[in-house]
Amino acid sequence: MLLTPGPTPVPEFVRKAMADVTIHHRTPEFEKIFEETRELLFELYGMDEVVMLASSGSGAMEACVTNLTKKKALTVNSGKFGERFGKICKAFDIEYTEIKNEWNTPVSVDAILEAVKNDSEIDAIFIQLCESAGGLRHPVEEIAKEVKKLNKDITIVADGITAIGVEKIDTTNLDAVITGSQKALMLPPGLAVIGLSNDAVSKIEENAKGFYFNLATEIKKQRTNTTAWTAATTLIIGLKEILAHIKKNGGFDALYEKTALRAKATREALTAIGCEVFPATPANAMTTIYTENAPEIRKILKTKYNVNIAGGQDHIKKLIFRVNHMGLVEDFEATWVVNAIELAMDELKLRDFDGTASKVFSQAMFKGN
Ligand SMILES: *Cc1c(COP(=O)(O)O)cnc(C)c1O
Repeated sequence: MLLTPGPTPVPEFVRKAMADVTIHHRTPEFEKIFEETRELLFELYGMDEVVMLASSGSGAMEACVTNLTKKKALTVNSGKFGERFGKICKAFDIEYTEIKNEWNTPVSVDAILEAVKNDSEIDAIFIQLCESAGGLRHPVEEIAKEVKKLNKDITIVADGITAIGVEKIDTTNLDAVITGSQKALMLPPGLAVIGLSNDAVSKIEENAKGFYFNLATEIKKQRTNTTAWTAATTLIIGLKEILAHIKKNGGFDALYEKTALRAKATREALTAIGCEVFPATPANAMTTIYTENAPEIRKILKTKYNVNIAGGQDHIKKLIFRVNHMGLVEDFEATWVVNAIELAMDELKLRDFDGTASKVFSQAMFKGN
């Protein structure tokens, strides 16, 4: 049972759709698939433009940094992925300022406003909607709204790799929203998507940078339902399949509601057995628990109960575990994982087993408590 917050399991109907013969990317057949996928992405994003890139999520992060920063970037580092925006700036000699916090602490709106007020060179802000390193939700929409009041020309780039497909994002004040295939979109890794505002498209056209990740070239091509370089055809076929499936089975809002309920039920179940939720503002993509017993709990889950959950990275590598809520998680899987965690805690003599976790989970998930 794969319950890591990325990669997530690829549903069987998607795998089957991707198992068909490879089609040439410069054909009317593929252009039609590309067009339909684009339309579904427009519905998912609710933004003015979308581009698909044959790369992992980090490629889209790089493309946004290089194409959307003219003078100076402001990056938010509350974990591994926020830190990555700074590393990308450094790699391209792009000037940047970083706001750094503990991995369980969201950036404040005021800290961002202060940084922007104090430095008129900043023309782009890079931040995670959900910082997956700790499962932390940043107040991105509020930040974007306040920054735009101050200066509407500042570009807001949100990494939504563990947010798009998880919850409805208000993209009103966002200029670029990134996602990747192997998290909430339930595909194999290798495809990235960027949703863009018209303002972002204009800025890209004035400031296009790079070759492979030149977004001006991509936007121009993709508006005609083709790609600048060879498209990730198989993954795009899979993307069309999963998005069409979600739309047909209750729609995106139903998926967001189910994910939110699963996240809430999991948090309630685990806190009821004495677990400590790590982030101050948990995102719905995953539940992150802070415990010195994380490695032992994960080991018992994997060897005895057939559940694969994630640990942490860097300084909290052995101090957290993360349970995925993204995608089409089966109810029986979500119910089983909290029960298995309670059993593991019993084995480690942290708490006697009495079935509280699965009871609390079931109450919240199925009985509407
Ligand atoms: C997974 C992830 C990334 C990195 O994506 P890759 O596909 O591994 O390049 C970036 N940001 C967030 C928030 C992620 O969860």
